[in-house]
Amino acid sequence: MRIGYKNAWILTMDDAFTEYRSGYLVMGESLIVEVGSMHQFEETKADEWIDAQGGILLPGFVNAHTHCGMIPFRSLGDDCPDRLRRFLFPLEQKVVDKPLIAKSTAYAIAEMQLAGVTAMCDMYYYEASVAEVAKKMKMRSMVGETIIDMKTPDSQNTDEALAYTQAFVDIWKGDGLVHPLIAPHAPNTNTEDVMRAILEFAKANQVPITLHVSEMNYEIDYFRKTYNQTPIEFLESLGFFEVPVILAHGILMTESDVEILAKYPKVSVVHCIGANTKSAKGVAPIRNLLDHGVTVGLGTDGPSSGNTLDLFTQMRMVANFHKTHLNDRSIFPAKEIVSLATKGGAKALGFEKEVGTLEEGKKADIVLVETASVNMFPVHDAYAALVYSANAFNVQDVWINGEMIVDNKKLVNVTLEVLQRELKEGMTMFEEYAFELSKQLSFE
Ligand SMILES: [Zn+2]
Repeated sequence: MRIGYKNAWILTMDDAFTEYRSGYLVMGESLIVEVGSMHQFEETKADEWIDAQGGILLPGFVNAHTHCGMIPFRSLGDDCPDRLRRFLFPLEQKVVDKPLIAKSTAYAIAEMQLAGVTAMCDMYYYEASVAEVAKKMKMRSMVGETIIDMKTPDSQNTDEALAYTQAFVDIWKGDGLVHPLIAPHAPNTNTEDVMRAILEFAKANQVPITLHVSEMNYEIDYFRKTYNQTPIEFLESLGFFEVPVILAHGILMTESDVEILAKYPKVSVVHCIGANTKSAKGVAPIRNLLDHGVTVGLGTDGPSSGNTLDLFTQMRMVANFHKTHLNDRSIFPAKEIVSLATKGGAKALGFEKEVGTLEEGKKADIVLVETASVNMFPVHDAYAALVYSANAFNVQDVWINGEMIVDNKKLVNVTLEVLQRELKEGMTMFEEYAFELSKQLSFE
């Protein structure tokens, strides 16, 4: 059965940025089989056609850094200094358990899919549950259990977390949709010995590594005092960049850090502008990284850090913050930002052979953004419309692996209201506590 879209403004996101102002795309099974201009359209090329009515068809968005289990903490202590150590770590110990993670993950994936996100990279706790939910919801994913040198909701110490990761990798290695990785929390929140063990694990099991890096001032201070290095220099000295590694944030990287990363083609950086700027940490040197040829994707970070899990919010902030920061309106064209949110993210996660562009032979991870809503008229430049005018509610249809996941703004396989009710039930034991805490924090 071949299904096609016609009358779509198609952004293929291929290397030449080929676009069809009025085009068609045909899917067969899980793959894209043809993309072209309406001048070449023939009814017989597909068994069934969906009329896009001028909507924008593009590759699915990739949220390359998130924590699906953190939905319950959204809008809690947003303006509180050093929230992570003072507030989130203790709260996690108190309330995070396996059922809550499963419910939160289902809700987070639903939110992402409704926003056109077709692939994600997740790290948190109880990641075996995250992987199961991701598989059930047909979400293309990289998933890893957080390894951190303290007691966590699901392990007493890093030995347990490493054993959990081994069991997890053994189960998920080879799955076509949900891929395991190893996820140290950050270079400063694990001992050097554990960081070395993690690298050996990645090599032995042939899985990528993801971690937060160059994010916190205290992280930078720690490495300067302990090693007289930057976190990036430290990771390089351990040999981390010889394996595929996905670095989240990288806000506080130096010019020489950028030059180091440019030497290693297996390294990618995930830019989380929303979370980085809400917490006043700064604007990562993304323009410089891209000019040095480093792979960059976009991420929302967790829902308590970035709040929304869609890439539209991030794309707009990438444009606005970088232009302002570098005092140059032309520094980040919309076209390049859409590329970071789609192809860049796919490459950052190692998915570029399968997805990231609308090209023949690629897996059909596709998003249709309607242009009929009030905020979407007129469209002179589809890239600019996506970055500056559109929002997640303009996403009409979403396909992953050639399967329809969102049909006319509704999830096909699950009901959002049900997922929300289930999550809310799981949160009742701490809602009152969180509200009181939130009031306390806002008065500090
Ligand atoms: Zn994070």
